[in-house]
Amino acid sequence: MATTGHTSIKRRDGLSTLVARWPFLGQRRALVAYIGAIVVLDLAAIVGTAVAIPFYWHDPLVFLSLMTCGAICIEATRRLGMPAGVSRDLLSAWWLPVALLLPPVYALLAPIVLQTLLQVRVRAALLHRRVFSAAAIGLAGCAASFLFRGLAPHAWPLKGGDGSVVMLAVLAAVVFSLINTALIAIAAHTANPDAGWREVLWDRESVTLDVVELCLGVMVTVGCGLHPILLVLALPPVVLLQRSLLHAQLQAAARTDAKTGLLNAAAWHREADTEIVRARRTGETLAILIIDIDHFKRVNDAYGHLAGDQVLISVAEVLRSQLRDYDLVGRFGGEEFVVLLPGADLHEARTVAERLRARIGRMSVAADEAFITVTVSAGVALMTTHGDDLIELLAAADLALYRAKELGRNRVCVPVAPPRLQGGAAG
Ligand code: GH3
Ligand code: MG
Ligand code: MG
Repeated sequence: MATTGHTSIKRRDGLSTLVARWPFLGQRRALVAYIGAIVVLDLAAIVGTAVAIPFYWHDPLVFLSLMTCGAICIEATRRLGMPAGVSRDLLSAWWLPVALLLPPVYALLAPIVLQTLLQVRVRAALLHRRVFSAAAIGLAGCAASFLFRGLAPHAWPLKGGDGSVVMLAVLAAVVFSLINTALIAIAAHTANPDAGWREVLWDRESVTLDVVELCLGVMVTVGCGLHPILLVLALPPVVLLQRSLLHAQLQAAARTDAKTGLLNAAAWHREADTEIVRARRTGETLAILIIDIDHFKRVNDAYGHLAGDQVLISVAEVLRSQLRDYDLVGRFGGEEFVVLLPGADLHEARTVAERLRARIGRMSVAADEAFITVTVSAGVALMTTHGDDLIELLAAADLALYRAKELGRNRVCVPVAPPRLQGGAAG
């Protein structure tokens, strides 16, 4: 075990290196195997369904119309840009009708067409992600198609506007959504086993969006089922919804630090200012913490920037999980984080800072040939005691942080130094 100052980095050699490598490599291999299996299943399903289905000219024409609507939707929102990372769209409005109205092979082909368009025209995402998305949506659509055609076997079942057939379409759409969510959640869990199943499966915002997509998809299906010309009426509202959804996601992305998902410095400043005005008006207390990773440069030097980034992400996860929803957590820059604790007095702020320090100190990040552990130092400042506005409070907390570094790091300090307030746990 090599210890670099207060950033202790546990290197393992010989046989134990293999053990240390196992979780990291293991989960990467598992993910590659899972993605490969889904893609192979998708290709097999395309071949299997293509040979088994009789050909009618009507089907490719409807397919082409729906893909044209999808393409127009993508082109109409293209200029807004696409937020980095996982983003949501309303393209189900087009592949659900494909799945429910046409033979299953079309449900497998539709996402390939639209994902290719997204990749070429909007954003070149990591190729394996695009391919996996297309396969997952395709398989979900294929299952929904088989189910719907099994339950409502007439060639064009929605033509009569029969209510029970519409309910079957809703059922098939729910199955589509559940299978798609499950396939993606398994990939997310395999990539990061630390994330609980609830975390990868349940997110109120994304469930709301799933419901909206489902309603939209079924409505377009019913319209197109009555007559494909009705797609002309469906297109403008779907484009508008897609644009506003993207706009909301871009706004959220503009507040967020891309690496850690915490607030970025500008957004944190803005929101902290608002909290301070509120605290002044209501007479409530509030506290500010600045948290800095100790000797972070050594982590980069020893293990490279990618491992350093992983440490930053893990520290951010600890901060997020340990703080309340209404605490403001931001990445100030580099390896420095800021927290605003509304309603906290000095005792509470120090307790929270100590808890964060201890939790981060116990954290262990798997890198290629080692487990990395880090410690942090924190400066605490309290509203009115150490400053009246954000600039004064940040300056005070920064001074306290400087003291924590000078006293040996891995500790929590406050700016003024009455003996009872000095931090000291070095563990
Ligand atoms: P101290 O204990 O005094 O804070 O030492 P330190 O090494 O943590 O501080 P210093 O300011 O010397 O170095 C900070 C390092 O953080 C330097 C920089 O390369 C690294 N860094 C800043 N941003 C990022 C990032 O986004 N990713 C990675 N991997 N490293 C970063
Ligand atoms: Mg540092
Ligand atoms: Mg720093």
